[in-house]
Amino acid sequence: MRLHAAAEPLSADTLEVPRPGAGQVLVRVKACGVCRTDLHIVDGELAGVPCPITPGHEVVGVVEAGGERFAPGSRVGIPWLGWTCGECQYCRGSRENLCERARFTGYHLPGGYAEHLVADERFCLALPQRYPDAQAAPLLCAGLIGFRCYTKTNDSRVIGLYGFGAAAHILAQLARAEGRTVFAFTKKNDLQGQRFALHCGAHWSGGSDEPPPEPLDAAIIFAPVGSLVIDALRNTKKGGRVICGGIHMSDIPSFPYADLWGERRIESVANLTREDGARFMEIANNVALRTEVTTYPLEKANAALADLRQGRLSGAAVLTP
Ligand SMILES: [Zn+2]
Ligand SMILES: [Zn+2]
Repeated sequence: MRLHAAAEPLSADTLEVPRPGAGQVLVRVKACGVCRTDLHIVDGELAGVPCPITPGHEVVGVVEAGGERFAPGSRVGIPWLGWTCGECQYCRGSRENLCERARFTGYHLPGGYAEHLVADERFCLALPQRYPDAQAAPLLCAGLIGFRCYTKTNDSRVIGLYGFGAAAHILAQLARAEGRTVFAFTKKNDLQGQRFALHCGAHWSGGSDEPPPEPLDAAIIFAPVGSLVIDALRNTKKGGRVICGGIHMSDIPSFPYADLWGERRIESVANLTREDGARFMEIANNVALRTEVTTYPLEKANAALADLRQGRLSGAAVLTP
């Protein structure tokens, strides 16, 4: 399913099975998660999309050929980070997530809304066996980006999650398993979302206009709504951090300096490193995370994107060829 022009529906194109180049694996797709970033790509909110492009960067599949790292038949995950230069100051400084020339799966590189794709084997991840294909897919971005955001909260005891979708529903379980107190903020009056958050282990859930039961040590924002940064700052204690986990957000309105005063910080989290991937998959192997998925046949990708856009999903949408 490919995007030919921004803001148009994806079209079902028939292509030849790609051939793996040097260092690449040919992967038969078993499941591919639908991420909010796919919406930003499809809606034309990210620059430089080389149309036509196949979206999808939460790819679970089986290696059919190519490369040396994985035997044919191995199950692998293909995440957002698809290639880095290895030479820039960020790559040399263990921050390849910020690589000046990074290429991303389903954005610059062909993604997993397909039956096959090729990928650089160095960026593929081994997946914990305990998760079936569809349940493993959301780990590859929602889980991973949530995890990178979570690592930025250091030893915060009370964590607020703004926007309770695919990322937050995985992270709430992990944070709770590690003894944190988790408060979940949804859209106003989203009672279904609030029930879902409690079901996933949140200690409290409410609308983003409601005060939490106690002030936050850290907040993570997954919803693409800039005004939430201010709501989160006001609910965060001195010295606390507000982490923005999305790739795109509406503008942050101006706010009084007093809301930031007290050594509060606002940070963004961009992409992931291969080390994040390996660490998170190890955790996911040890902690049984329940990923709630709604599966769609691959050809229904447009319906899955529409459901995500309209907020009709609990958990994550996953396409299966
Ligand atoms: Zn680089
Ligand atoms: Zn994503």
